[in-house]
Amino acid sequence: MATLLTIEEALQKVFSRVRPLPAEAVRLAPAAGRVLAEDARAAVDLPSFASSAMDGFAVRAEDTPGTLPVVAQIAAGRPAARALGTGEAMAIATGGVVPPGADAVIPIEYVVQHDNSIEIPKPVESGAHVRPHGGDLAAGDVVVRAGAVLRAAELGALAAAGLGEVVCAKRPRAAVISTGTELRSPGEPLEPGQIYEANGVMLAAALASAGAVVMPPSSAADDVQAHRAVLERGLAADVLVTSGGVSVGPHDLVRKIEAELGVVEVFWKVAVKPGKPISFGVRDGTLVFGLPGNPVSSLVCFELFVRPAVLALQGAREPAPAFSPGELAATVQRNAERDELLRARLRVDGERLLLEPLTGQESHMIARTAAADALVLVPRGDGELAAGTTVRYLPLR
Ligand code: AMP
Ligand code: MG
Repeated sequence: MATLLTIEEALQKVFSRVRPLPAEAVRLAPAAGRVLAEDARAAVDLPSFASSAMDGFAVRAEDTPGTLPVVAQIAAGRPAARALGTGEAMAIATGGVVPPGADAVIPIEYVVQHDNSIEIPKPVESGAHVRPHGGDLAAGDVVVRAGAVLRAAELGALAAAGLGEVVCAKRPRAAVISTGTELRSPGEPLEPGQIYEANGVMLAAALASAGAVVMPPSSAADDVQAHRAVLERGLAADVLVTSGGVSVGPHDLVRKIEAELGVVEVFWKVAVKPGKPISFGVRDGTLVFGLPGNPVSSLVCFELFVRPAVLALQGAREPAPAFSPGELAATVQRNAERDELLRARLRVDGERLLLEPLTGQESHMIARTAAADALVLVPRGDGELAAGTTVRYLPLR
């Protein structure tokens, strides 16, 4: 037991085998969720002109307080025909170009409006309600750094900075194979001893959420011929994820057949619960993960090892599992030899972020896992971790 790799050691071995994929130009909309391969630089200053932050009146601060004639209306998208003269005001909409000569905007609610003039009761500060030219970013500045996953805010920033397309890492192609003679597709009738196949759809969804293009999942019964056929096909992908068949039973064929097909095993077994029998190997550029068949084990191993690998293939800056701190809501027993990932519900209590372990932590209990928000890391060791202990957790997205 003591010789098993730790989660960190295993993850480092995975990362050391990742060769990031080449990049390609992508239009912004389909770039959602993808990883930027090169720093993206702004095409324009942001804002690209001094603009009004409010609906109001453009003025010279030094002309306030006072009564000023309103000499023009400035809508967003159309600058005023001329500069603002001394002692004048121009009505201006949010986003309108602040005319030369003006250095402040007074919001409409702070003036008294007459037919062709406004009364400004209080002095206005120079710069008030004016968004300065280039105040957010200058043309040529980096808007989003290489390695960032493009979420809504990044996409908004890239669009605002005038970028119609960006350079992203290619999406990894992923193959998913479920093994087990007992497996039937959901919706089909079950014969005695059979169960519904859960891992294929689960792992395919998880892979897609990590940015992979997933080939339709396939299944193989526990026989050599079936394994050979589907594994050979799966090895054409950038990432091959199998489930089941990596333990020590006579029907566990995945590692054996993979070895025959030229997969070089990097590790087998990690000091983690659930998920201990996980295997990882490579063939040419393909990363090959053998996840244990119990659905919860598969899910946990996916989050610990496969998602990070898929992100690393795309050149993500922070591919490692993103653990956050939280507080254990109940006392839990530690496992002496293996780090354990407990399924838990997240509850916010004032300032505290509480993690409530679910009842039913066995690795076949995928139905209970559906109610979990988090995987709580309980480091291996003796005794228990008391309620109130600060632990780290991985959100289940
Ligand atoms: P294995 O890792 O093949 O020994 O499988 C461990 C347990 O997980 C067994 O109870 C299997 O029936 C179950 N199992 C394996 N693959 C799947 C799957 N794709 N969906 C649901 N359960 C599975
Ligand atoms: Mg099996």
